[in-house]
Parts: sequence; structure tokens; C-alpha cells
Amino acid sequence: MKTKHFPILFLSLVCIIVGVGISSSIERKQTTPIKIMTSIFPLKEFAHAVVGEWGDVELLLPPGAEIHAWRPKPSDLVKLSSAEVFVYIGAELEPWADDILRSVKNPNLRVIEASRGLSLIGHEEEGEEHDYDYPDEHKHNIRDPHIWLDFIYDKKIIDRIVGVLSEVDPVRHPVFRKNADIYKRKLDALDEMYRKGLAQCDQKTIVLGGHAAFGYLARRYNFSQISLYGLSPDSRPTPRQLIDVVDFIKERGIGTIFFEIEVSSELAQVIAKETGAETRVLNPGASLPKKQDLSRLTFLRIMEKNLESLKNGLRCR
Ligand SMILES: [Zn+2]
Repeated sequence: MKTKHFPILFLSLVCIIVGVGISSSIERKQTTPIKIMTSIFPLKEFAHAVVGEWGDVELLLPPGAEIHAWRPKPSDLVKLSSAEVFVYIGAELEPWADDILRSVKNPNLRVIEASRGLSLIGHEEEGEEHDYDYPDEHKHNIRDPHIWLDFIYDKKIIDRIVGVLSEVDPVRHPVFRKNADIYKRKLDALDEMYRKGLAQCDQKTIVLGGHAAFGYLARRYNFSQISLYGLSPDSRPTPRQLIDVVDFIKERGIGTIFFEIEVSSELAQVIAKETGAETRVLNPGASLPKKQDLSRLTFLRIMEKNLESLKNGLRCR
């Protein structure tokens, strides 16, 4: 009887010893930088602002990539399999996210879906053609994913990054908190600049020669947007929509059409010529243009430039 129990006892001892070995190797070394992956440029800036010198932040989307159209390669899966934190927007901005997160073999990966818990703008999509797979119960109603263009939401996203990084590296929590507060004050200053800068404008509507990326900015600072495309730059306006927009511009005496750097401005130019309006750049800032000096351009800087465009285009005092 005694000898029968021996192999079981032996095995459980081995399991305990090996188990202890594995769990201690999973625990991260304090000195290794936290490896963070983000989907889009603003999230990279936020994560970098929080983690500072204690982590490496990498962008999944290369410069020049159009966020709505980009799809990951196998090498991106490899990058994610060695990361400790992944931050993405959600709300179908990255339709590939669910798949890649299912496929990645990385038990240590912590995931932040930035849009979760935020009140999102819903859009009724018209027409039959779209690139989205709607859940059956919500046909024609999609959520606007461009949440980073609400600076108050950005502060909430940053707080969540602090929370998750502090789980990964509890010792550095005070550093992450302090770093986050510094960046959040910059966002407060930006919010204040927008609030003051856009308080008194002749126009209250921005006409976009691109897609409807500025819904959150419009909601926060009390203006409205009309766009030639839908929520995604892939879609194209119908001739009917074009005529409506031209009529709208003429009726309201709108002097400026805004277009994005990444998106072809051809359409905007055509409408500008048709209506006599001028064109200005308004950059959603999700990704950087290909030939950009990455060290100098920041999300905050892009937003400051956008404010100048808006103030001029909407004729603000
Ligand atoms: Zn977009």
C-alpha cells in the first residue's frame, strides 16, 4: 500500500516545484522596461506620457497607414505575443482586434479597450453600401470610434493606462500617476484653448471634405459637422449627397471646407471651386503621414494646428 502512493506523492511534489518555478519566471523583473503596443498614434503618445522611461511603446500602425483600412500582418501578431500591454480604441475602429487577440498566445498580455465605458456617439448610416458587419439588432446604427478627439475622454483613457501599468509594475505607480497628471494638465490647457477659441464664431458648422471624424470635438465645443464621406474614408458620397452639400454651403454662406492630410482633397477642391469656398486642413491625428519628422510632431501639436484652422475657417473672434 505504501509503495503504491509513492509515485503520486512524487508527481505532486514535482508539480509543486515546477509550478513555483514557472510562476516566479512569469513575474517580471523590475528593471525590464514594460513593453506596450498601441494601435493608433494618440494612444502611443498617451501611453508614452504615462510610462516615461520605464517602458517602450510601439505603434502597430506604421506611419502613412489609414486606420480604417489597415490590417495586421503575421509579424504584428509576433509583436503582440511579447507585449505586456495592448491599448486600442475599440468601437470597430480596429475590426481586426478581436481576431488578433484571440490568436495571440500571450497569457501575460493586458488589454485596454479605450472606448469601453465611454458614452459613444451613435450614427444612423444611410444607404445600402457599407463595409461594416452590423449585429442584427443594430442594423444601420454604428458607433463613432473617433473618441481621441475629445480631450476629456483622453484624460479618462490615460487614467486607465495608469491603472493597468500599475498592475504590471506596482512599485512605479507613483511615477505613472505623476507622469499622467503632467500630461492631463496639458490636455486641460488644450481644452481651455478650444473652449475660448471657439466660443464666438460666425459659423457653427464644419464642412468636411473627408470622413466624419470630428463628432466628439463638435459635441464638446458646440459645433456640428457635415461630411462628404461617412464614418469611414472608404465610403464615397453619392451624387445626391454632393449636390446637397454644395447647396448647404451656398445657402449658409460657408467660407471653408476642411480636409484631412491623409485623404485625397480632390473632392474638396471640386466643391470649393463650385461654391467659392476655400480649403483648410483638419487632421484627425490617428496616424502620422509617411514623411513626417516623428520626433517633432505630437498629438497635442496637431490639435493646436487644428484649432488654428477651425478659428480661421469658422471665423471666430
Ligand atoms: Zn476615422
